[in-house]
Amino acid sequence: METKDEQVRFDDMPERIRALPKDHRGYPVPYFVAWPNGKPDHRIMDRAKLWPAMEKKLCWICGQKLGAYLAFPVGPMCVLNRNISEPPSHLECARFAVKACPFLAIPAKARRDKNLPPDIEAPAGIGLKRNPGITAIWICKEYQSSLLPNGLLFQLGEPIGAEWYYEGRPASREEVETWIESGLPSLLAIAKTDGPVALLALRQMLHIARGLLPAK
Ligand SMILES: [Zn+2]
Repeated sequence: METKDEQVRFDDMPERIRALPKDHRGYPVPYFVAWPNGKPDHRIMDRAKLWPAMEKKLCWICGQKLGAYLAFPVGPMCVLNRNISEPPSHLECARFAVKACPFLAIPAKARRDKNLPPDIEAPAGIGLKRNPGITAIWICKEYQSSLLPNGLLFQLGEPIGAEWYYEGRPASREEVETWIESGLPSLLAIAKTDGPVALLALRQMLHIARGLLPAK
C-alpha cells in the first residue's frame, strides 16, 4: 500500500488534514478512524464518534466544524439509493480523501476486509458489496438520519452538485454510466421486492443521478 504514487498524493494535503494525527507511516489519521489497542486502523470506523460528529456538526474526516456545504464521498449505488452509513465532511477534505485513497473515505470496503478484528459489524442499511472503483462526492446542505437495528443510517439531501472520480482521478461520463448500469439490476431487484412505490422512487433517483453525471 505504501507506493510512491500514494506518497505523491499526500503532498498536497489541505490544512485541516495536515492538523490530524499521523500513523506510523506518516499517513494522516481521519477523525472517524478507530484506535483499537491505541493504534489507528484506517479500515475501522469508530461508531462512538458518530453522535458527536452529528451533534456538533463536525467533519467526519478532519473532525473540525463544518460549513454550510456538506460533502459525502459515496459509491455510485449510494447516489441512487441515497443511503450512507457515515455523516458528512468538508468538500476539501472529501476531495483529499477520494484522491489520496478511495478507501480512506469509505472504510471496511471489499478490498481491505481481510484481517479485520472479529467484532466489526457490517454498516447499517443494505450494502451492495462490490469494490466501488467509481466514487462520487455528493454535495448538499442537509441530510437526514435514521436509527436501524444495526446502527445509524444517513440519507443524502437534495444535491447541489456532484464530483466523480475513478480511483482517485476525475471520472469520465462513460465510466460513471457503465458503473451505474452494472449496479442497476441489483437495485432494481431490491426495488421490485419492495413494490411499485420503491420502483418509482428508484426511477426518480436515477433521473436525478443522470443530471449529476460529468459533462459529455
Ligand atoms: Zn474536514
